[in-house]
Amino acid sequence: MSRCSRTILLLAGHGASYASPAEEGEILKYTDLRCVGCNSEFTSDGPADWNDSPPSGGVIFTSHGNYGSTIYDEPPSSPDYIVMVICDDCLTAEANRGNVMHVIIDRKFLREGDTEVRTVKERRVPWHREEEHEQDKTDL
Ligand SMILES: [Zn+2]
Repeated sequence: MSRCSRTILLLAGHGASYASPAEEGEILKYTDLRCVGCNSEFTSDGPADWNDSPPSGGVIFTSHGNYGSTIYDEPPSSPDYIVMVICDDCLTAEANRGNVMHVIIDRKFLREGDTEVRTVKERRVPWHREEEHEQDKTDL
């Protein structure tokens, strides 16, 4: 199968539809990847008709790279990216070490007369498990 078969299909009036490479049987699935922290394997609880279900007990991370990396930095115009998966236990351990950033974005669209005012507030705080971060959001 040629790489051209992964071209984004544009549907008029309906945005973009992506031909899943997994549907075409040519690439890795998320569950083919192992945890970057402990090398554990993943299974998936996703519906049977999902050809590329997310890993159970793991979080998928994607990156387009960045300036500064000597091995991966996609140009801004490139849609390509890399993927890693980390298990929930390893992610929790890294969060407890202070190695996980939570970027909290608060966007507001207000109308002042004829002018639309957009405000974006961003906070970067240490990430911690779900039950603990609601306070971070209210602090914006
Ligand atoms: Zn792990």
